[in-house]
Amino acid sequence: MIIDILTLFPEMCEAVLSQSIIGRARSKNLVSINCHQIRDFAYDKHKRVDDTPYGGGKGMLMKAEPIYKCFEYICSLRKTRPLFIYMSPKGKTLNQEMVKSLSGFENIAVLCGHYEGVDQRLIDELIDTEISIGDYVLTGGEIPGLALVDSMVRLMPGVLSDNSCFEEESHFKKLLEYPQYTKPYKWKDREVPEVLLSGHHANIEKWKKEQSLLETKKLRPDILEKLKSTEK
Ligand code: SAM
Repeated sequence: MIIDILTLFPEMCEAVLSQSIIGRARSKNLVSINCHQIRDFAYDKHKRVDDTPYGGGKGMLMKAEPIYKCFEYICSLRKTRPLFIYMSPKGKTLNQEMVKSLSGFENIAVLCGHYEGVDQRLIDELIDTEISIGDYVLTGGEIPGLALVDSMVRLMPGVLSDNSCFEEESHFKKLLEYPQYTKPYKWKDREVPEVLLSGHHANIEKWKKEQSLLETKKLRPDILEKLKSTEK
């Protein structure tokens, strides 16, 4: 998979994407992630990427043309036109189902907005889908864009040691993950559940399934409600 990120803060994105699991996936060429500076595609001598909104209002808006040129350049590098995603609080809220389907794309481009957002004409002209990471507003699209990229890359073959690493996790099969414990066996008078020490695989599996259900009931009853209503 090739992911292109269009941003005014490529160093911020690189700082995160060069670390830990995603950084290792890039070093092993399991995924190609490229951060592009939108300002490099500004056409005036001051390299201006924003301007005041028509009709008044506070703040600045990102201009259409530098983003357009940046995307055009990315398209010239790729065999197929990338699916172009705009990270936006107006978008569809990201969930694991969306992550799964997006991670199947060969090319994805992610636009990170800033200031008051982006000229609507650019969105109408180029954007395939708008994705939000929740019903709140951040100063820029970099953190949402990084969240999207991280969630997709960890599902790619070879990035985690095996598929069970993410298949057993919360949301993959809808329910939340069961509680987990590590050494020591006893910490502040709290002990690890006996069944996990028993070595009895069938019982451990049964316990995990029950706990996963209980955890979901306790922390996210809305998920169970939704599952029930789709079963009807
Ligand atoms: N004026 C916009 C509005 O009210 O919808 C918000 C602009 S926000 C301050 C600046 C940029 O941050 C956006 O263009 C978007 O890229 C990003 N952003 C902010 N909150 C976000 C969220 N919840 N999900 C995805 N992107 C977000």
